[in-house]
Amino acid sequence: MTSEHGFNAQVRRSFDKAAALTDHAPELLEQIRECNSVYHITFPIKRDDGSIETIEAWRAEHSHHKLPTKGGIRYSSLVNEDEVMALAALMTYKCAIVEVPFGGAKGGIKIDRREFSEAELERITRRYTFELLRKNFIGPGVDVPAPDYGTSSREMSWIVDTYMTLTGGELNALGCVTGKPIAQGGIRGRTEATGKGVYYGIREACALAEDMKALGLEPGIDGKRVIVQGLGNVGYHAAKYLQEAGAVLVALAEYEGAISDPKGLDLEQVMAHRQETGSILGFKGAEDIADSKRALELDCDILVPAALENQINSDNAARLKAKIVAEAANGPTSADADEILSRSGVMVIPDTFLNAGGVTVSYFEWAKNLSHLRFGRMEKRHEEQARRRVLEALGEKTSKPFSEEQLKELSHGAGEEDLVHSGLEETMCVAYEQMRSTRAEHEDKTDLRTAAFINAIDKIAVCYADLGIFP
Ligand code: NAD
Repeated sequence: MTSEHGFNAQVRRSFDKAAALTDHAPELLEQIRECNSVYHITFPIKRDDGSIETIEAWRAEHSHHKLPTKGGIRYSSLVNEDEVMALAALMTYKCAIVEVPFGGAKGGIKIDRREFSEAELERITRRYTFELLRKNFIGPGVDVPAPDYGTSSREMSWIVDTYMTLTGGELNALGCVTGKPIAQGGIRGRTEATGKGVYYGIREACALAEDMKALGLEPGIDGKRVIVQGLGNVGYHAAKYLQEAGAVLVALAEYEGAISDPKGLDLEQVMAHRQETGSILGFKGAEDIADSKRALELDCDILVPAALENQINSDNAARLKAKIVAEAANGPTSADADEILSRSGVMVIPDTFLNAGGVTVSYFEWAKNLSHLRFGRMEKRHEEQARRRVLEALGEKTSKPFSEEQLKELSHGAGEEDLVHSGLEETMCVAYEQMRSTRAEHEDKTDLRTAAFINAIDKIAVCYADLGIFP
């Protein structure tokens, strides 16, 4: 389904708005905008009861300007070709914005994972991987999937195992997918990467007193009233880091309903309650909201949609009270809603920037797989010993020696997790600064989303410049 109201059309609208503010040739802009290839598959799967079910799936590779292409795999009953193409396009722009050297891709399997047993999900995932491999839609230098809505490290482990079984002995095979368990070539810090990146992005936006003043807010995260929609991988981790930094979670929304408490909800207690009862509803001291979507309209400073696309649309955008919409999900705001929010002076921190932490750390994982070496392994101890010698000499010179505890803390060398977090933080801070300065260059004519798209278009255009094809 490709319609002018579909998700892909929404992404194109954002692209076209930004493209109009650049001076690139129309032919080049068209090449950047169009999806390069889409693979649509159906295959049969044997259910546990012996019946056969036909499964529909896709992989879209939006842009081959850099290889491999990269993007998650989504398991959802709502998946369709339009959605996969839109998400693949967002991946292209996202990778360019955070300077991760990949083209964009996305995969989707049209299933509700809750309706399948673990064994059935494994059969579906392995068959999907086989189909991708058959058509050269997976491989460390070709196209590298990752987790997305409805998938996790478990599915990635089935993918890498299937790939390795079928390709037998390929040296860089572990780099065929990211978001893997650590023991199978994963990287420390990938699970929480997207949510942590969301936190860094919001922190950067809130740190600038001038921007906060324009919204009638004080700088900083501390005390900000936050609503999070979707408590999966991205939403849970974003909420966790925001709460740790002093934000007050005034409402949390899941598919079964929402809960609110102006005094603040304890995230871990809510998660434990959900684990125990199967629902976030009925949490002690909180008000239940049966219609989950209504929670988006409650009073707050920051609204974090972290579930699916089109949650903020022309039906509800005018009723939102948030001053900042922080797009942790992909495409949560429709193009019409974006215009409504912009007219009301709401700051939208765009998905193409804000949830790029996942692909950033996926890039680190892929690079680790290709190097066959854990980050920090060679230098950690050497760094620690050098720092310890400096600290001991300083202690001797000043006749104030450091305690063993201080020496340990101050000489700590960077291990894999430290390096991943630091690389992620650096990436998000630099990309935010670039986005903000592009917005400043275009004065009042643009918003952060358009600024992010302009940056992406400019960076991709450079890759085509030397080909000499485009004027
Ligand atoms: P997930 O499957 O781990 O979690 C999604 C959560 O949203 C689930 O808990 C689900 O119950 C909930 N949900 C579904 N419909 C809802 C509704 N109508 N109202 C409230 N809650 C609802 O998925 P995820 O990986 O956290 O992905 C969430 C979003 O973030 C998606 O848009 C995805 O494309 C995007 N994203 C994910 C990653 C990643 O690394 N996982 C990276 C970038 C972007």
